[in-house]
Amino acid sequence: MIGLGSIGKGTLPLIERHFKFDKTRLTVIDPVDTDAKLVTDRGYKFQKTALTPKNYKDVLTPLLSEGEGQGFVVNLSVDTSSLDLMKLCRKLGVLYIDTVVEPWPGFYFDDTATAADRTNYALRETVRREKKKKPGGTTAVSCCGANPGMVSWLVKKALVDVATETGVKFKEPKSKKDWAKLMKKTGVKGIHIAERDTQRAKQPKPANTFWNTWSVEGFLSEGFQPAELGWGTHETWKPKNAKSHKKGCNAAIYLEQPGANTRVRTWCPTPGAQFGYLVTHNESISIADYFTLENGKRVSYRPTCHYAYHPANDAVLSLHELFGASGKIQDKLHVLEVNELQDGIDELGVLLYGHKKNAYWYGSQLSVEETRKLAPNQNATGLQVTSAVIAGMVWALKNPQSGIVETDEMDYKRCLEIQLPYLGPVKGYYTDWTPLDNRPGFFPEDIDPSDPWQFRNILVR
Ligand code: NAD
Repeated sequence: MIGLGSIGKGTLPLIERHFKFDKTRLTVIDPVDTDAKLVTDRGYKFQKTALTPKNYKDVLTPLLSEGEGQGFVVNLSVDTSSLDLMKLCRKLGVLYIDTVVEPWPGFYFDDTATAADRTNYALRETVRREKKKKPGGTTAVSCCGANPGMVSWLVKKALVDVATETGVKFKEPKSKKDWAKLMKKTGVKGIHIAERDTQRAKQPKPANTFWNTWSVEGFLSEGFQPAELGWGTHETWKPKNAKSHKKGCNAAIYLEQPGANTRVRTWCPTPGAQFGYLVTHNESISIADYFTLENGKRVSYRPTCHYAYHPANDAVLSLHELFGASGKIQDKLHVLEVNELQDGIDELGVLLYGHKKNAYWYGSQLSVEETRKLAPNQNATGLQVTSAVIAGMVWALKNPQSGIVETDEMDYKRCLEIQLPYLGPVKGYYTDWTPLDNRPGFFPEDIDPSDPWQFRNILVR
């Protein structure tokens, strides 16, 4: 296991709970040893090392090739290249899983790179190219956390619900093409990964600190990347600073502004209508790509897809301070641990909109209280991620020769079945909310009243 941060600490006890393996051969690698006792007390090895482009092969190869059996790399670190690690694993015949396409350090804050170079589109394309170049072979699961990850499974479940409840005649799809056809037939115009984190700290956040419920580094990296979204075929308007890509799948566009300072109108069951941040995520692109229908070279259908994230209030305040201070990152970064949290839930789901019943949110409403009962060392946000890692590992063990896969390509029913005991209430809600509610108000607005589900109406300008 690479990385013993907030996700690593939560995943380790679940790996122990769910898999039988030779204890003497599990090693956890992290350059920071503050929590090493969590590993060594359980009888595993801890190696205090920062993986680098120079040393990763030398550090990992002996650990993965000595002795009998097939190895497994669970990559839960920042600042390591997912692509390089996955390539090494596949060469050694070792299973691999991660939760983002992470680059080596330098990528996210490279001020000599173009905005296009700093997108998740560019990162995802590196993995897609490798998949194309070397199809099949040992399984490497790319981006299998909560989002990206679990939400791709939730999208399929939600689509089946909406199709059934709006009277669409269909057989459960088996192929990518048939899933895309069903999305189109159901009339879905777009999908928000709609999340509201209401977890509250017991103490108020001091000034000049960035508090979050998962990796602050991870959140800042993606938050400073350009806002990005899968671009649907129903869209008739684009922001002036929207750009498309010259190469690759072309399923997404990006805006020349940071995602964590870009707001969108969205909806979750607990708050109802809310603002979310349009932070770039791999799933915005992979889901839009997966549900694309082509007619020859022409794209005949694609849903818009993006993240609409209302993080914990302490993180919203942290972002407000940061962008107010011209982007200067606070001196102290802190991930709120489960014992520092008073209460709250992480409401993480998918909002399928534009169909006959308007919009449907389906997802997990896991609370801090329930998380405490279910698993150690993590808050609700963490458990949604770590249980997806476990589901992905089970799938990889059952499908060890499937090549490089994204979660959109996995068996969503089986993966959700594994994850369900860890997700708290998992429910669907229809809503009649649209981003045009109560608009225009006192002032004129640039809206499209003919179609509430245009990005023009969703983006806060
Ligand atoms: P974290 O910052 O708490 O932990 C990251 C760990 O990586 C730290 O312990 C750090 O010391 C270690 N690390 C740093 N450089 C390293 C190197 N060179 N070699 C080995 N280890 C190194 O982050 P986290 O909250 O645990 O998140 C871990 C990863 O999971 C991040 O990439 C994050 O973006 C991702 N994540 C994905 C999801 C999802 O739903 N898909 C959700 C949360 C986090």
